[in-house]
Amino acid sequence: MSNWQVDSWRNKPILQQPEYDDKVRLKEVEQTLSSYPPLVFAAEARELRRQLGEVSLGKGFLLQGGDCAESFDEFNAPKIRDTFKVILQMAIVLTFAGRCPVTKVARMAGQYAKPRSSDFETRDGVTLPSYRGDIINNFEFTEAARRPDPDRLLEAYHRSASTLNLLRAFAQGGLADLHEVNRWNMAFVENNPLKERYSDMANRIQDTLEFMDVIGINAQTSSTLHETSLFTSHEALLLNYEQALTRIDTLTGKPYDCSAHMVWIGERTRQLDHAHVEFFRGIHNPIGVKVGPSMQEDELIRLIDALNPLNDPGRLTLITRMGADNLADNLPRLLRKVKAEGRHVVWSSDPMHGNTFSASSGYKTRNFDAILKEIKQFFQAHEAEGTHAGGIHLEMTGQHVTECTGGAYEISDEDLAQAYKTQCDPRLNADQVLEMAFLVADHLRN
Ligand code: PEP
Ligand code: MN
Repeated sequence: MSNWQVDSWRNKPILQQPEYDDKVRLKEVEQTLSSYPPLVFAAEARELRRQLGEVSLGKGFLLQGGDCAESFDEFNAPKIRDTFKVILQMAIVLTFAGRCPVTKVARMAGQYAKPRSSDFETRDGVTLPSYRGDIINNFEFTEAARRPDPDRLLEAYHRSASTLNLLRAFAQGGLADLHEVNRWNMAFVENNPLKERYSDMANRIQDTLEFMDVIGINAQTSSTLHETSLFTSHEALLLNYEQALTRIDTLTGKPYDCSAHMVWIGERTRQLDHAHVEFFRGIHNPIGVKVGPSMQEDELIRLIDALNPLNDPGRLTLITRMGADNLADNLPRLLRKVKAEGRHVVWSSDPMHGNTFSASSGYKTRNFDAILKEIKQFFQAHEAEGTHAGGIHLEMTGQHVTECTGGAYEISDEDLAQAYKTQCDPRLNADQVLEMAFLVADHLRN
């Protein structure tokens, strides 16, 4: 890797970073973090990269989801459990419908740094620095709270470690039993206003599981039905933190960013000659890049070549976030170009970030139908171009929040105030996200 060093990003222009007053403390924190154990093991990241390689070749599907921004305040077991459960519930539906393995990647255990559209926020005539995620500052609207605090990097590390610990326990300790997961889905369907629409698939999954029990596939020795693997991911925006968690893997001698299995570059920081691309090109994790409607075809090929020069199939996931009304004009030209140039990538759809607007009530929201429309168009574009629609990337929670409008419970603009809890972007709630899974499943079957 020509001239790459774990800190070579520091010589490049960089956007969306906090300005720390206490640089001495920042340095100390970075050194402390560098001495701490990694959060993930490089071999796990390699396993995810292998699975994503299968996805890029059309033999799997990527389901990635979680909070827009995890929060230190909402750091508790029920919250982690409920998001984990809903990811499993979606995955079983998508696996059954798509007849292919679903790789589950949570936006959890480290999703703490946020890019913002403005550096400042004004409320009632008072202007303060924007909230940039709990790893940087505090959401509360006071001058002290909004000041970037280096000690938050340590706090984020410890909270990520606890979250990951619980996720691993859930994945292996019985919560991931497929029989149980489908029972939750049956309960969801039973209570849903659109019950008729979803019950068929839940029943068929149940029948399949029962059949497998009868013929003995569900023997004590079979871990497939009782355990799962869940990978973690976040936007690696705060490179001081990511550098400090980068380690040389003893098995391969290669650097891995051990803050998560997969990390991605956001839409606002993917400039070819800037710091994030520089850092990412040297780490060996599977990585993602967000791709919005302004991306040009040649620019995309240059970015792919910078990040995946060996054209390795599982290395790079392009997470497209076009907006339901912009997708038809912009995704097909990119699909065509990447296919014509023979580059291997996973194409995943983020149907959230191109469909955000301010409701009349003042809340930042997204509408269920627009999200679904973007997903449907994503599948249609891939079908038309002969490429593989490889995954979806959602902002979601297992909690019963009211942040996105629409869905079977018809959340309206006025309802948003009831349980609007996000510190950043609006998330699909547990009911909305399962409904989305059943509707996407319909699409996978057709
Ligand atoms: C996000 O995923 O929360 C995000 C900020 O997305 P994007 O970079 O696509 O705007
Ligand atoms: Mn977001």
